[in-house]
Parts: sequence; C-alpha cells; structure tokens
Amino acid sequence: MIELTKTESENLIDVKNLVKYYPVKGGLFKRVVAQVKAVDNISFSIRKGETLGLVGESGCGKTTVGHTMLGLLPHTSGSVIYNNTNVFDLNAAESKLMRRYMQIVFQDPYASLDPRLPIGDSIAEGLKIHKIGNNQERYEMVLEALRDVGLEEYHAMRYPHEFSGGQRQRIGIARALVMKPKFIVLDEPVSALDVSIQAQVLNILRDLQRNFGLTYLFVAHNLAVVEHISDRVAVMYLGKIVELADRKELFNRPVHPYTNALMSAIPIPDPKLKRERTILQGDVPSPLNPPKGCRFHPRCPFAKPECSASEPELREVIPNHFVACHYAEDFIK
Ligand code: SF4
Repeated sequence: MIELTKTESENLIDVKNLVKYYPVKGGLFKRVVAQVKAVDNISFSIRKGETLGLVGESGCGKTTVGHTMLGLLPHTSGSVIYNNTNVFDLNAAESKLMRRYMQIVFQDPYASLDPRLPIGDSIAEGLKIHKIGNNQERYEMVLEALRDVGLEEYHAMRYPHEFSGGQRQRIGIARALVMKPKFIVLDEPVSALDVSIQAQVLNILRDLQRNFGLTYLFVAHNLAVVEHISDRVAVMYLGKIVELADRKELFNRPVHPYTNALMSAIPIPDPKLKRERTILQGDVPSPLNPPKGCRFHPRCPFAKPECSASEPELREVIPNHFVACHYAEDFIK
C-alpha cells in the first residue's frame, strides 16, 4: 500500500498541467463534436498548512478544479501529486484511502445531508464506509467533531431541517473533519450565508486549520472573503490561472488587468474614500470556444495585436508573483 501520510516536500499538493474538458456529443451517432474547456492546463502548488484561495467569476472553472483534484470528476489529463503520489494513478483501494485524507465541504451542505437521517448518522457515514472504529468509537468521534465546530453533543440526534444555514455549514465541516483529513477543498463554503454568519464560519475554519495543521483550497467568487482567509491567492479566468501571489502582495499590487478589474469592484468600508471602478465590456466568452491567444483579450482595455496572436504563459514577473500577460511589466505599480 502506498504511504499517504509521510511527507517529504514543503508542498502538500502539486497540481501539474491539469486539464478537464467536457465532451459535447451530437449528430446521429452521438460523436464528440466539441469540448467545453472548463480547466485548461493549469499548474499550482499548495504548501503544507496554508490556504490557497482560488477566485474568479462563476463559470471560470474554479469549482471544477477542486472537484477534479479529489476525483469527484474524471480528469482529462495532468496530475495531482499528494505526498509524492499521483492520485490519478492509484487503484480503487488506494483511491479510497486517499479520499479519507482529501475531503470537501460543499457550498450547500443541506443538499448533501439526508433529510431522513439524524446529523450524527450523516457525520458518521464516512467513518462507516472506511470501516473506522466500532459503533461506540464512531459515536465518540462524531461528538468530538461536533464540539470542534462549535455545536453541542445533543445536536447529533437532530435532523437537518432543525438547523440554521450557518449550523448546517458547521455540520458540513464536521463531516469532513471527522475523517481526520490533511487537505480540504472548501467549495464556496460561505457564499450562501449571511455576512455576520460568514465571519463565524471563516473563524472556525481558521481555528481548525491551526489546531489540526490542515491545508485548504478555498474556492470563492468573493474577493473580500478570499482576502480574509487566504495565505496566497490564484485568480482564474476562463479555465486558466491569470495571476498567483501572496495575499498581501496580490491585494496591494494586482498586476493582471482582469485582477485589477475584480479588485476595483470590492467596496471600501470608508465613505470618504473612492476607488476608480473598471467596468469590463462584454460577457465572459464560452469555454466551448475560448478566444485564441490571451483569453481575456476581447474584454481587456489594454489589448494589442500580440494578445490575440499568442497565449501568454503564467510567469514570475516579481519574486513569487506570477502573471499571465504579455505586458505584465507595464502594469506593475
Ligand atoms: Fe490584456 Fe494582452 Fe495582457 Fe491579455 S495579454 S491581459 S489582452 S494586455
């Protein structure tokens, strides 16, 4: 059996050239006539114990990245290296073991909870599948997970409809936590919650990370939320990463014109201060037929002929600050 808990490098996860296409079938024989290029050759690493924020507009492929990394969606090509093991090369038994260490928290925990089961049973489901502990031990582990996310032990006997949105998200986190994971994909975990509750859930996630040494991929469309929790941030546009840097560096000195446009839309909490808003023209193009060259060029206010002719590589333009733009140096402030 492959050793999944031993760690040798600083990175817990290395995603290399990950591609996820959805085939579009048509015609009499239902042949593949096109491909939706949801994730198109992206690479990044996540260091042990860090939170990497993955941000972009809806439809940019960020959720697909998280689901493909965990094997919830089949990948088209590329690799995901966890502790020196390509998770896509594992056999069924090894994949099952790996899934214990790589968990996910969904945006809508209600949809993933069985309304007929007390939540204690739902939280224990993964333990049963992995044959961890006997009934009594599983019950103890469920209670411990409930306490860890700030819920009470008696909640184990309650049903999903008896909880508020914030409590349900805590249950979703407890379900992942009970498996004692190393890595969790947080898929828009606070997007459906009121702002006051969002802060509570984010604080819980931060406390759990500190207490259990967890590593997160935090997927979100809200830059303000990503700024609150991430150590580094990757910005996605139409299946590609266009910028990746430390949180402070990215928010103080965004370089890519798309990142700058996203940043300009974040409200400033001081009414005396005003930010110049960049309104992007047009809609996000279809991933079925993405623009040639730089995918952002039809909407970029700085596009030049070169931009539609060749695709810019994600390259280091400032130490540890990566940008996919031919003219990135012109936008460094
Ligand atoms: Fe804009 Fe060209 Fe840079 Fe793309 S490569 S972001 S189109 S300037």
